[in-house]
Formats: sequence, C-alpha cells, structure tokens
Amino acid sequence: MADLTKEQVSQELEKIRPQLNKWREDYYTKDAPAVEDNVYDKLYNRLLELEQMYPELVTPDSPSQQVGDVTLPDFNKVTHDIPMLSMGDVFSEAELAEFNDRIEKNVGHEVDYNVELKIDGLSLSLIYENGILVQGSTRGNGTIGENVTENVKTIADVPQKLSRPLSFEVRGECFMSKKEFLRLNQAREKDGHQVFANPRNAAAGSLRQLDPKITASRKLATFMYTIVTFDDLNVPTQHDALETLKELGFNVNPTAKVTTGLKGVKDYIEHFGELRDSLDYGIDGVVLKVNDLGLQRDLGNTVKVPRWEIAYKFPPEQAQSKVLDITWTIGRTGVLTPTAVMNPVSLAGTTVARATLHNEDMIKQKDIRIGDTVLLHKAGDIIPEVSQVVLDKRPKDSKPAQIPTHCPYCNSKLIHLEDEVALRCINPKCPAQVKEQLTHFASRNAMNIDGLGPKIIEQLYTKKLVQDVADIYKLTADDLNTLDGFKEKSINNLLTAIDNSKSNSVERLIFGLGIRHVGAKAGRILAEHFGNLDNLMAASTDEILSVNTMGEIIADSISTYFANDDVKKLINELKSVNINMNFIGSSNSNETNVHFTDKIIVITGTLENYKRSELSQKLVDLGAKVTGSVTKKTDLLIAGTKAGSKLTKAQQLGTQIIDEATLSDYLDDAKE
Ligand code: NAD
Repeated sequence: MADLTKEQVSQELEKIRPQLNKWREDYYTKDAPAVEDNVYDKLYNRLLELEQMYPELVTPDSPSQQVGDVTLPDFNKVTHDIPMLSMGDVFSEAELAEFNDRIEKNVGHEVDYNVELKIDGLSLSLIYENGILVQGSTRGNGTIGENVTENVKTIADVPQKLSRPLSFEVRGECFMSKKEFLRLNQAREKDGHQVFANPRNAAAGSLRQLDPKITASRKLATFMYTIVTFDDLNVPTQHDALETLKELGFNVNPTAKVTTGLKGVKDYIEHFGELRDSLDYGIDGVVLKVNDLGLQRDLGNTVKVPRWEIAYKFPPEQAQSKVLDITWTIGRTGVLTPTAVMNPVSLAGTTVARATLHNEDMIKQKDIRIGDTVLLHKAGDIIPEVSQVVLDKRPKDSKPAQIPTHCPYCNSKLIHLEDEVALRCINPKCPAQVKEQLTHFASRNAMNIDGLGPKIIEQLYTKKLVQDVADIYKLTADDLNTLDGFKEKSINNLLTAIDNSKSNSVERLIFGLGIRHVGAKAGRILAEHFGNLDNLMAASTDEILSVNTMGEIIADSISTYFANDDVKKLINELKSVNINMNFIGSSNSNETNVHFTDKIIVITGTLENYKRSELSQKLVDLGAKVTGSVTKKTDLLIAGTKAGSKLTKAQQLGTQIIDEATLSDYLDDAKE
C-alpha cells in the first residue's frame, strides 16, 4: 500500500469518487440507499486512506469534502449561519483511543466526555423566536438546508411554544420508531410502493414531503441534543445543555452519561450494543462529545466534522444462509410479495428462516437465485433482509427466481398498476385475496371477532359458507357444526363474538371494509367527523379532504370505493343484518391513546408510581388488552425495575419495551 505511486492512487480515486457520489445521491437525495452502510463506509475509508497519502489529490467534489445531502429543488432553502456538520467515525476501540489521545494532546489533560447514543435518523434544526417555533430545517449540504417548518409542526414531541421566551437554535435528530417503520413499510408494500430500506431513510423521506399531511401521518419523533447558541443560557457543558433542553420541553434521549476519559465508554458501548435490538428506535453507534462547551469551541471543526466529537459505529449484525426457495404470497389488496425461504440461522437475537424480498425489482437488482448463499441483516434492526448474494459461494446449478406472470391462486394475469413496483392480481374475486379481506375484517383492530382467524376462514370459504363479509353474519350453528374441531362451546363462542361485533362503533367497520389507504386511525377520524356511514358514503371528495389529516389519496380512494355498485350492495346487506353504522366511541371510555388503544400489553417488574391493578384498568379503559405472558402477539412490554424472564422474552421477540418514565410520557399523550 505504501508503495502505491501517485499515478496509481489518482487512478483508484477516480474510480472511487463517482461510485461514492452515486451512492450518496441514492442515500441522501432519493432516500433509497443502493448498498448497506458498511459497504459505503468501507469504500469511503479507502478514499480517506488514499487521500491522506497524497493530499494534493483531494478534489472539491470528493465525498471527503462534502457534508450530506443535495437539497431537493421543491423546497424553500434556508441558510445555516453556523454550518450543520457531519461527524467523524471510528469502528474499533483502538481508533477510539487514538481519538482520545488526539484530544488529550490538544487540550493537555484528560477530559470529560458526554456519551450519547447515535440515533439513526436525520439532523434537524429548530429555530425559536421569543419562545415560538419559527423554522424547522434539514441539514442539506451543511450550509443550505430545506425549509420543512410546516412538516416539523406535525411532529408531536416538538414544542411549538416554549415555557420561556427564548430566541435560539437547537439541533437534534428526527427519527422514526421501529414500530412506525414496520407499519409504514407494511402499508407501502400492500399499496405496491417501494419500501424504505431502514428507519433513517423512512424518516428522511417522511420529513421531506411537500404535503405536511403526509408527514403528519408518519408519526416522526425527535431527540434534541444541541443548543447552538448557548452563551446566554448558562450551559457550560453538553450535559447541562441536555438538561436545559429537557426542562424546556424537548424530547431528549435519556441514556446519556458523563465519563472521564475513556473510562466507562466501553461499558456504555457494550451495554447498548446488547440492548440495541430492544430499543424502539434505531441506533447505529455511540457518540462521544467533549463535555465542556468552551473546550469544544476551542477545538473547533474541520471543513466537514467537529474535532471534539466522534461516532463509534456498531459493527453490522450479519449472518449467512442458503436460499432454498422463493415463494410468493398475496395480500388483501392483491399485491404479490416474494419471500426467500432459507436454512434457519441466528441473526441479531432471533432465528431467521425467511426474508422478505419485497418485489421483483429487488430480486433482479440483487440477482438472488435459489441455491445462493446470501448475507442477511435486519432492516431497522427488525425485518430480516437480504443484503447481497455471496457470489463466491454461488453453486453452478443456482436457479434464477421465476417471476410469476399469473396469480398463483386464481391464475389471472398479473399487472403493475401505474408506477407501482409491485406485481398485483386485480381479480376482485381472487380467492386468496377474498380470504385475506375476510381475515382483515374479523381482525382485532377491525370488527374484532374473537376466534375468527385465517384457519377458520379458510374452511368457511372452501365450504362456500362465507364468500363475503356479510355472509359472516348469516352463519348458523348448523353451518359451524360442519367445521373441523367445532363443538357446542366453540360454536356458541364464535356466534356470540359475531353477534357482539354488530354493535361495534362504526370506525371498526370503516377500517374493516379494507378501503385502500384507510387505516384504523383514519377510520376513527372519519367516523367521528361524519357520525355514521351514510354521511361518509354521501360525502364528496372535497368534504372528506376538509377533514383534518385527510389527504387527496385517501379522499379519492374513499369516493371511488363507495361509488362502486357492489360495495353499495354489500353495505345494504350489512345493514339488513343489523350492523351498527353509527359512531358511538369506544366501549368503556371515549379516551384513546395512540400507544395503548387496541394493543396487547404485558406489565412486568416493579413500578414505582403505579399500582399494577390500577395501571391495568387504566390501559383497558384506553382500549388495550392486558395479558400475563409475552408472546408473538404482544405489542408492548411495560418493564419496571427487576424485570426478569418476560423482559428477556420480549427482547428475543423484538417486542416494543418501555420503562416507567416512557409509560408516564405515553399516558400523558392521552390527556392532550
Ligand atoms: P452520520 O450520520 O454518520 O453522523 C452524523 C450525524 O449523526 C449528525 O449529522 C446527526 O444527525 C447524527 N446524530 C445521531 N445521534 C447524534 C447525537 N447523539 N449527537 C450528534 N449527532 C447525532 O454522518 P452523515 O454524514 O450524515 O452520513 C454518513 C453516514 O451515512 C455514513 O457513515 C454511511 O454509513 C451513511 N451513508 C450511507 C450510504 C449508503 O449508500 N448506504 C451513502 C452515504 C452515506
């Protein structure tokens, strides 16, 4: 390496630079990375290595000279008076020690670091004037960012008014929780759209929207960590800055700690390296910041990164397995999704035997074949995904995936709708889709018919007892008697559950009908606004659009759905079997809470400020189901201190886990 001539280095740089710049454009501008971060990082570090050998070969367009993104042309631009920089990164403890040595040499003594989690989102700047939020913007290229003020105002945890009339700028990270990322990607896949590669890209794609209603629907969150203009605020250290931000009402990540020198940093890295999968937000490392803000100022910045902070990046969690088959399944909207079936392998805390391939484009781009050995990672730490094929291990007889041309369930020709990447079966009578729709209708967040799951629906459909959702209400005891394993008790239970569902408040029906783009939350907003289904059916697109948070896509979808004669017939049939068509709110109370309503929750460990029984009742009143053991169906674990096996189980299953402080924050959300 030391033997490389200037000519050789120059030639290599000329290859690396455009490649990195292309990847940067995909990542920053399109929010759709073409390669994993560690692939990018490896090549980027090679670039740095080469540039260090011959600094005269550094060009202005080198990625080493640029911060982040190109701003999108559709947004108004803002200028950052104090540039928003990138951050240096290291990948080993040895490199961390080098960083510490540099700092100590510069300062002349050991320093305190504030150690924080590196949140996997995008930088956000907020400007307040006299305590009022006046501007929100992205980092852009560090000097020029995008004005996303209206979008930022839709983020629930960003205070629009502070308790003190301060005029200052704060910065932090805008991110998407893993849960929301999962929800969004599932919805996008169902709608035939390209999924986001990870929560970071999902957050960036959601904040950089021209329609704030879209941003609002994506439930972004923030952790703020920098007070840019701190002189008037009496905050001598980064630790004090975080405390002040907290006091002022900003959301601040609770895990930061101060440590002298590198003592304690290793423990922090180890601890959060292990806990990483159980956090509800993505982290890609740990950040060390010189705690003394005066010292930070003295140490200053390079053109691209501050000298007083460094990111330690976690190694990627990867595993290899062999693709045994590629199967295609259909959802209730007719989208076909390919899945790689593999030899089971352990990856980031769970056993993985299947990985979604999302759509045909992904199979083609990555050229994934049956028989290939593939490298796996978890997108957003949750969804197992194929990073790339290990070409060296490709067997001679590997088989390219067969992309179906016809629906495997009804044999209709498959199509791509408009600009969708997904393959779709548009036969409304496709049995696989109808069964999915029936399952959705009966599901917990829709009509909540306990006991009517996919297996029973399969039987009911095959025996031609149920062909559409109205048929569910015509079932008799004699009909159910013909099903495998059904006895008097199970027959009565199911008939009672079906009967009970008739009196559901209408938002459950609106959601259960499976109108494209109308989720449970939209169903509730519409039900509350229109009062009953007839009013919603009669509403014009404009009237629907006038409802808070409803965008054009939803409004069009609802109008088109109810204009259909088959739908009108179905609604009349549902009326004739006495399904309630009015909004009556949830059964026990009208209060709902985005974190708890319709969720299955387990409480474990010791809670300081809540009695277990009272908390359970409170959650039930908010529409949650509180159960005793953690299973795959559990949505949320509330873990107090001394939590034991339930916590471990939830971590293994990737269940969302919150502590007592988060619980009280979440409960407060109900009071807004
Ligand atoms: P970065 O994201 O690695 O680090 C800097 C950013 O970290 C800051 O701007 C800030 O937004 C964020 N951050 C999170 N938590 C923080 C905390 N507690 N304190 C301070 N900052 C915090 O740097 P970058 O320049 O934005 O991006 C470079 C990274 O992006 C690379 O490491 C690479 O992995 C990735 N990338 C990937 C591709 C790809 O194709 N996959 C392409 C380009 C860049």
